[in-house]
Amino acid sequence: MGNRKTFSSLEVALIVLTVLLFCTSIGFITMLFILENTLREDSSTTTTLPPPPPSSSQTTLKPSATTTDAYPHAYLIGAGRADCTGLLADIPLMGYASGDQLAAGLHTRQYSRAFIVAEPDGSKRVVFVSADIGMVSQRVRLEVIKKLKSKYGDLYRQDNVILSGTHTHSGPAGYFQYTIFRLTSQGFSREATDAIVNGIVKSIDIAHAGMRRGRVFVNRGILDKSHINRSPTSYLRNPESERARYPFDTDKDVMIMKMVDMNGVDVGLVSWFAVHAVSMPNTNHLISSDNLGYASYLFEQAKNEGSLPGEGSFVAAFASSNLGDVTPNTKGPHCTNTGLPCANPTSTCPEGGVTTCISTGPGENMFESTRIIGEQIFEKAMELYNSSAKEMLETVNFAHQWVDMSNVTVKLNDTHNATTCKPALGYSFAAGTIDGPGLINFTHGMTEGDPFWDALRDALLGVPSNETTKCHQPKPILLNTGEINGSIPWHPTIIDVQIITIGSLAILAVPGEFTTMSGRRLREAVKKELDPSDTKNIDVVIAGLSNVYTHYITTFEEYQAQRYEAASTIYGPHTLSAYLQLFRGLAKAIAEDTVAELPKGPEPPFFNESQLPGFFPNIFPDIAPTNKTFGSVLVDVQPLYLPGEVASVTFVAGNPRNSVTYMSNDTYLKVEKYEDVTAVWHTVYIDASWETRYYWDKGTGGQSNATIEWHIPSSAAPGIYRIRHFGHRKRLFPSTINPYEGSSSEFEIRRSIRLPCHYLYNNAALYI
Ligand SMILES: [Zn+2]
Repeated sequence: MGNRKTFSSLEVALIVLTVLLFCTSIGFITMLFILENTLREDSSTTTTLPPPPPSSSQTTLKPSATTTDAYPHAYLIGAGRADCTGLLADIPLMGYASGDQLAAGLHTRQYSRAFIVAEPDGSKRVVFVSADIGMVSQRVRLEVIKKLKSKYGDLYRQDNVILSGTHTHSGPAGYFQYTIFRLTSQGFSREATDAIVNGIVKSIDIAHAGMRRGRVFVNRGILDKSHINRSPTSYLRNPESERARYPFDTDKDVMIMKMVDMNGVDVGLVSWFAVHAVSMPNTNHLISSDNLGYASYLFEQAKNEGSLPGEGSFVAAFASSNLGDVTPNTKGPHCTNTGLPCANPTSTCPEGGVTTCISTGPGENMFESTRIIGEQIFEKAMELYNSSAKEMLETVNFAHQWVDMSNVTVKLNDTHNATTCKPALGYSFAAGTIDGPGLINFTHGMTEGDPFWDALRDALLGVPSNETTKCHQPKPILLNTGEINGSIPWHPTIIDVQIITIGSLAILAVPGEFTTMSGRRLREAVKKELDPSDTKNIDVVIAGLSNVYTHYITTFEEYQAQRYEAASTIYGPHTLSAYLQLFRGLAKAIAEDTVAELPKGPEPPFFNESQLPGFFPNIFPDIAPTNKTFGSVLVDVQPLYLPGEVASVTFVAGNPRNSVTYMSNDTYLKVEKYEDVTAVWHTVYIDASWETRYYWDKGTGGQSNATIEWHIPSSAAPGIYRIRHFGHRKRLFPSTINPYEGSSSEFEIRRSIRLPCHYLYNNAALYI
């Protein structure tokens, strides 16, 4: 038998009690744990916190349900700006199609400006980008969308992102995949394309990272004396009854969108105004964002007080609109050799034909004209910004389709259809415009071809088919771009049509340059679909030069006149009717919430880069003159300047093409002021400043110069200054690219040439 333990009745009672106490304690603890978790779950389901946007570190979340939210329908908003300045030498500028208008320096930098608006819970969002470039090319668009996909997955796509160009004609070319645009660009440039694509993506990154709760307002007003119609005789072809509904032959509306966060901090502005950004003519060689860029500059400088250009959080975009027949050169067309007006239907002068019929103004030179037009647009936008009261609420929406624009059947009425055509350019395309004339043998209004040019066309490009010839009538075909054989098409046929809406604001992304009346018809058609009963107070605005470039879009009636804009309406006389039909379809889908049922359409091609050659000259190794080095001063500043004068210094330079990958968000020059108190040089102007200009003189044999000008404004404080230059030089042995810098001598700014009083007092004897 073993040594077995036995318990007394008292011991048994104590054991039972201890076990009971233990079990009760465990039960309590378990209950508390379950209760706490239940409460935690309850609180998380009753608080309506929206999910923050991915990787958004600064998002101000919506207040919980326990606090009162005065703005429960506030959006999530963000704005970002990034430099997209690329090459500033040895590359043609984009716009005037002038192969010898090569970039040779910089006046103002180019920026991409992005705006994101999301519904309060962050799930549905739209992006609008305006970039200081000639136009958005399909290549740029496809590369941007690809990069956004790799960064953000499906958050930013072709259907909720609009990319629009300001249409400055003073930015580099080279970012196109279709042949016609590469012909005047010296081919395709990876560097030019990267600068734009990276700038656009970075501006979206910044806008995305800064998203927070905020409010969006719109406002509109009239701006006079800032543009004129450059094809008024074509406008007159539109029905009298239609013209009678409008007081002007241009749209003078300025439409603005204002963004403010919930703390009342200004976030951004987008302004749309129909004007060509061609105050800088085809004789200019400096990179410039032109009149709309200057309006952005002024607005951002006003809001980002104390910041250098390109810095500060407030972002102001001045975007393009239905500017097809609208010029900022308000003095009107005059013959350069006689000064007499040439406002005739063919825009020709007795001597020189179209080449001497040019419009300028309102200033005495290109810089003054750019300044005046930019200031006027800026001032109107600021006035509208400060008085905006119409608030957009809660919703955003978007619809997008790809369309084969060479083959759209247009329903004209119950019994008649028409079709768009394979792309082709007419004879008057070669006449250019009064902003930048073309070739002497061509005039506006050509409705018949010329045997010589026809024969040359047939020999080089092939004979246009009867079908295409007939389709484009009365346009005589100069370049039958849709029928030229080759691995890369000359013109796009797959294009984007797209609408985004923010509250009651609808933004129409059009892939080209709509004329005034074309734009009016489009806005009206879309408005009717979005608001059939006309009770929703909807604003419709056209965002020009968006997503892919397809030249111009005139009305059917303007097309008959065959001025430049009509000759450049590449899909034929029914192009506008096709767009009206397509945009109506998008608007209807938004209004009826059937966007998901819209056919996506055929995807545009993305050509292999090896098929897109570039023909840019090799960069010579840079050479400094004997006894000089890079950054050495060749012509120095004067010792003394007054406000209104120009301080100028010339340096030994390297080719700025060496600098392209190093100088994004940087500067080729600085104007520095010496601060007596701190004894340091303080940067007061950079290359993005309106007051500075960087002229690059290529010279010969690799010896080049950089002349930096500072146009001293009346606001310049008296004191001691210097001008510095930064660049990169290329060496052959060893093959390297090295930075260099140089500085002018110090110089003084005085308010006037009068000598200081103490000087007069100390030297009084000299004056007796
Ligand atoms: Zn244009």
